[in-house]
Amino acid sequence: MKLLIFAGLAFGLAAPASPQSEPPKFMFPVDCTLGENCWIARYMDRAPGQAKTDYNCKAQTEDKHNGTDIALADTGVMAAGVAVRAAAAGRVLALRDGMPDVTVTAERAKLIQKQGCGNVLIVGHTNGWQTRYCHLKNDSLLVKRGDVVSPGQIIGQVGLSGITEYPHLHFMVQRAEKGKPAQHYDPFDGGVFESGCKAEKTPEQKPLWIEPIKYAGPIIIPPLVSDVQITRQMLWQAQPSKFSTKPLTLFIQARGFHTLPNDIWRFSLVGPDGELQFTHDVKQTRQRQLVEANANFKSPRRGFASGPWQAVVELIRGDISMGKQTTNVIVE
Ligand SMILES: [Zn+2]
Repeated sequence: MKLLIFAGLAFGLAAPASPQSEPPKFMFPVDCTLGENCWIARYMDRAPGQAKTDYNCKAQTEDKHNGTDIALADTGVMAAGVAVRAAAAGRVLALRDGMPDVTVTAERAKLIQKQGCGNVLIVGHTNGWQTRYCHLKNDSLLVKRGDVVSPGQIIGQVGLSGITEYPHLHFMVQRAEKGKPAQHYDPFDGGVFESGCKAEKTPEQKPLWIEPIKYAGPIIIPPLVSDVQITRQMLWQAQPSKFSTKPLTLFIQARGFHTLPNDIWRFSLVGPDGELQFTHDVKQTRQRQLVEANANFKSPRRGFASGPWQAVVELIRGDISMGKQTTNVIVE
């Protein structure tokens, strides 16, 4: 075999691409089901300059976003523990732990600018490929520097450390080649950061995921239901499972990513008897990345009936339902 390649080179022919130059294939790095208990909140930015475009030529990213954001519903889910897995075989090159899981404020973001990734693990793979796992939960890291990891090995948990407002994993794929600056790769199609989207795809570009992952449209997360007015600080808080005193009002907060002007959030409350008790529409006036919309339902004269209530939010675009999510809560 060696001889053949040598002969080829001697005649000025290109050596066949060795299998070693192929990028590694990656497993999805979070132990969750997309669309059910985790969501792709942001893809990589593929638009050069200041524009923002994801690999699918839509705007589900932010300018200069160099990885994939995999979000959880709230800090309750995060506290229960959602495992982060090594995406491929490799060795732990570096890590940081010990940063608290807190929703970042503008002031804190300035203070921790150099630790924006929060608690982090960097895993080295073959041929200069690396994966990086950011915003990990404080004290959840299960490996140390130099450890060899196998594909799918649990290495930590999704958290809220560093510069982030909501619990998520920022998953980054990089390749550092000798003499060249490291490049960020998009696992959804194998393209490079800010290199253009689908239209400019090269024939050799392939997804880096082992199992194909379908592009998801606007993201709808289960709503937050509260018996008090929901503030910005409460947005990603754990959902209470019951209200032990009869609420005077039920506040429902829709949470999601990437809505367009004229999208409608439809809020509904279904009572313990299974009947629709309330419904209310909120129209979005502008394109939004992180979306908040809310509705309040005042208690009926006799109070909210005791038993399980369902709060449903549905996103409607034109006449089409883009999906809905439900949160269950008990009124005692
Ligand atoms: Zn991110």
